[in-house]
Amino acid sequence: MKKLEQQGLVVENEMIEFAKLGDEVVVTALDHLVMLTKVKMTALDMVKAIATLAEVTQNFLVILAKNCGNCEDCGHCEEMDTENIKLPDYMLETAGIPKDAKLIAYAEEDSGIVRVEQAEYEHDIADIPEDIRELLSNYGICMGELDALLVKGEFLHG
Ligand SMILES: [Zn+2]
Repeated sequence: MKKLEQQGLVVENEMIEFAKLGDEVVVTALDHLVMLTKVKMTALDMVKAIATLAEVTQNFLVILAKNCGNCEDCGHCEEMDTENIKLPDYMLETAGIPKDAKLIAYAEEDSGIVRVEQAEYEHDIADIPEDIRELLSNYGICMGELDALLVKGEFLHG
């Protein structure tokens, strides 16, 4: 494991050689990932990189599946709110709720009233884009358990 230093992070030449990146590399910062690749790629380079990315994705899915478990018609999965509740900024401001806060709603039975308040957690299943949710669900991951892990925000077990 590497900790960040003042100047960033050093990637040793041996690692670059091991990854077969050649002399000219490009660093690309992505959402939750920094990628180091060849500046110029052949079709074979591209295919090999795609294969590696697929392998990395597969390994991540295995870890997530281990932590969530498989869904065996848990019932929780079908009745989940997958949309974030949105209110106009002025309403949030009046209520003293930060604009990017997670909101939850409670319906008061037969009252015609739904109460919306700031959630005590930051993330849940509604923060996962639909296509990724579908991918994870097709992989057999229990969405109910994933939702619970997202709410808790704990580190996963390898
Ligand atoms: Zn489930």
